[in-house]
Amino acid sequence: MRIRLFSTACIPNFITLLRYDFAFEFCGANYVRQYNTRHTYIDFISFYLCNSLKQKIPTLTRYVITELLQSDLHKIIVSHQPLSSDHIKVFIYQILRGLKYLHSARILHRDIKPGNLLVNCNCALKICDFGLARVEEPDSSKLMTQEVVTQYYRAPEILMGARHYTAAVDVWAVGCIFGELLGRRILFQAQNPVQQLELITELLGTPSLEDMRYACEGAKSHILRRPPKPSSLTALYTLSTQATHEVVHLLCQMLVFDPDKRISVVDALAHPYLDEGRLRYHSCMCKCCYTTASGMRQYTTEFETTAPQPFDDSWERKLTSIEQVKEEVHKFIAEQLNTSRVPLCINPQSAAFKSFASSTVAHPSELPPSPHQWK
Ligand SMILES: [Zn+2]
Repeated sequence: MRIRLFSTACIPNFITLLRYDFAFEFCGANYVRQYNTRHTYIDFISFYLCNSLKQKIPTLTRYVITELLQSDLHKIIVSHQPLSSDHIKVFIYQILRGLKYLHSARILHRDIKPGNLLVNCNCALKICDFGLARVEEPDSSKLMTQEVVTQYYRAPEILMGARHYTAAVDVWAVGCIFGELLGRRILFQAQNPVQQLELITELLGTPSLEDMRYACEGAKSHILRRPPKPSSLTALYTLSTQATHEVVHLLCQMLVFDPDKRISVVDALAHPYLDEGRLRYHSCMCKCCYTTASGMRQYTTEFETTAPQPFDDSWERKLTSIEQVKEEVHKFIAEQLNTSRVPLCINPQSAAFKSFASSTVAHPSELPPSPHQWK
């Protein structure tokens, strides 16, 4: 089951209030439990049950309170704000750092896109929206849904109907975002999934049969019917004056057609291009290192942390009814209230709250479009 985020509103005291509606499926609460503080994803400050508002709100509604991040990468890319190579380095570093943690927990995000990367005024970045996330499927004979990842960031194996895919789909999306940060426009902006594949092959060239081994037959024959295209990866140099050899070298390893040959997050983090981003992040932006009274920076021993153990979703599989879900979330909230967390208060009189409580977001247009039905 899966919880669907219904609406988001910013309220005073620098927090964001997310409303979840259990009329939809459930998959989020355990992520909240697992992904607490310290890492590069959204920090859940508190899970909050609005007792005082019980009568005023739908009975199936619960609230999650998170820290407020002022912007997201999409808004920054389309703004007129200059993006220096230092900005791009520190953004890409943080995206990969967050993904390394998620992938080490065996979680695939499956909807990495600029709008899901929240950014603070000091350029701290957090991955959000785990609505399409799932635990990696080790059994390659098990079918996985293709209705994932917003089309522009969708990896070629998903576009070509692969029934099983890996964490490499998130890396493809990072490559697309890298290109978008450089060029300040969407790298592969197509009208539909077939054209999406077309744009990808225009840049990468026609893939070999070997590179298409995960594709369905219909998609393969579609590619083979087209005149062969040469690679035009050198076009990446024209994205921006910031597209140096080092940039293009890393980008080309992310934008690889064959998911098995695509660079992993761990290997990408070892690329020299990210050294400066790492240094900048840990010199003044992170929470894992600190400055002593004498002004010396004490660095952590592990710059990019991994999860202590793989994410265990068995907790969710036991939830078979809405009542059980409500009960578990209620229990979780009660546990949180017993910890040393600062109790937060929502002001139901505020104008922001009223518009938030009555809002109905979850635009259908924000959900990934259905995959192409290859014949
Ligand atoms: Zn640090």
